[in-house]
Amino acid sequence: MTSKCTRCGTCCEKGGPALHAEDADLLEHIPMTDILCLRRGEPAYDPRKDSLQPLPSELMKLRGKGKDWECVYFLPQDKSCSIYAYRPLECRSLYCGDSAGILRAMDEPLLTRGNIVPNDSALWACIDDHERNFPVDKALRLAREDVASAQCIRPELDDLICREFQYRRVLSERVGVEDRDLWAYLGRPLWLVLLPLNPIFSRYEQV
Ligand code: SF4
Repeated sequence: MTSKCTRCGTCCEKGGPALHAEDADLLEHIPMTDILCLRRGEPAYDPRKDSLQPLPSELMKLRGKGKDWECVYFLPQDKSCSIYAYRPLECRSLYCGDSAGILRAMDEPLLTRGNIVPNDSALWACIDDHERNFPVDKALRLAREDVASAQCIRPELDDLICREFQYRRVLSERVGVEDRDLWAYLGRPLWLVLLPLNPIFSRYEQV
C-alpha cells in the first residue's frame, strides 16, 4: 500500500473532482465555464458504494473534455495537472493506496449553485425556473419507463426534452454564450443526462 500519490494520472482520467464549500476561493483561478453542475437525482459514481447512485443533492465538479469525463485540466502528455497549485480538495486528498483521505473529503459540505449565485439575481431566477420546469428526476423516471421499448421516446418525455432544449437556446442566445458555458448553472441538457440509459437520446444532438 502507498500513502503517497505517484501521479499516474488514473484518477484525473476518470474525471474531475466534485467541489466542496472550502474550494470556493479557487474560483478565482477556475472559470465557471470549466465547471458543471450535476443536478439532484442524476446518477453519479459513488466510490463508497462502487456503483452509480442517484445524487441526493446537487454537486459542482470540474468538467471533462468534450464527451469524455477526463478532467479538463489533465495534461496527458506528461500526466500532470495544469492547475496543480489550485487543485481542489478532493484532488489534494486522493491517494490510491489509502482511501481514508478522499472519503473524509467527500463528507465535507459540497459547493452548490446557491453558494455561487446570489439568490436575488436574474441568473438565480433562471436556475430556479429551470429546476421547476425541467426536473431531472421526472426525465429519468419517464426515460426508465421507456427502456423496455428502446426504440421510441414517449411524447411526454420528448416534449420535456425539446422544451428544455429551447429554454437553454433562448437563454444562451440572450446572454451570448454557448450552451456548454451554462452547464455550471443549468447542468447538462436533459438529453445528455439521459444518454447513458439509451443511445436513442443522441438524436437530440442534431436538433
Ligand atoms: S484538477 Fe488536476 S489533479 Fe484534479 S483531477 Fe483535474 S487534473 Fe487531476
